[in-house]
Amino acid sequence: MRDTIDIHSNDNTLFVTGQCNNRCLMCCQPPTKKDDIDFFYQKNKKIIESAPESLSVIGISGGEPTLLDEKLFMLISLIQKKMPNTYIHILSNGRKFSDCTYTEKFTYLAKEKITLGIPLHSDSALIHDKIAGVKGAYTETMLGLYNLAANEMDIELRIVLNKQNYFRLPQMARFISKNLVFISSVAFMAMEDIGYTIKNRDFIWIEPIEYIDYLQQAVLFLSQFNFDVALFNLPLCLLPNEIKPFARKSISDWKNTFLSQCNNCTLQKDCCGLFSTSQSVYKGLKTIKTI
Ligand code: SF4
Repeated sequence: MRDTIDIHSNDNTLFVTGQCNNRCLMCCQPPTKKDDIDFFYQKNKKIIESAPESLSVIGISGGEPTLLDEKLFMLISLIQKKMPNTYIHILSNGRKFSDCTYTEKFTYLAKEKITLGIPLHSDSALIHDKIAGVKGAYTETMLGLYNLAANEMDIELRIVLNKQNYFRLPQMARFISKNLVFISSVAFMAMEDIGYTIKNRDFIWIEPIEYIDYLQQAVLFLSQFNFDVALFNLPLCLLPNEIKPFARKSISDWKNTFLSQCNNCTLQKDCCGLFSTSQSVYKGLKTIKTI
């Protein structure tokens, strides 16, 4: 993460705390115990003060941003005052929104031009809690999703693809189509090989080529129901043609790279490439040559 806003970057995110109340097995930013909320609040205040008003999107991430409690509202107000036309994307595990009072206050103060990106690891509570590392996390996240929907918040559901959840992707798609119809978009995300993923490799890591068939079923099912579906962090050469159009150039510019073989690939300009921060390279990458 940078300490300043770069208007030309595809990722301007305020890091608000290293603390988190989940312990996700593939967390790329392992949580800290240090009480750093005031430190980052002061730092982010300065970043916002010097930010260009024409910035199109600003992110808020951590750690878990709702651990800021009401300070999160203050941060959002600062952004809205300085950059009234800027969209705010907040990445949260959603558990705090199981509290109706907090959710009502949050949506009263911060509804316009805000999207909440909330990860749901599975339609199964058991699997979600196993991946989130906290018993009861699924129930709180689901309650949070319903409370936010009741307050008409814009929600992006995030599904990080891993060894514990890939085999239920078609069931999960059906679950979303029946129970989470209010979601505005669903993003399926390939893992970054960093942080806790390295520590929990045997349990969590899976190569994209092993889950592509399950992913394709889920994506095509949800798109039939008019969900806005996106694939993040998946190079185009790993995807069947039917789901290539869902792929996004999602990797932040400051950690995006391509291999030398990509230079001869006709898909490079539309491809997300790879994480420069990952410890390994996905299997099955191949140069695509189309006439
Ligand atoms: S070869 Fe490289 S540029 Fe081409 S699709 Fe694969 S990762 Fe993307």
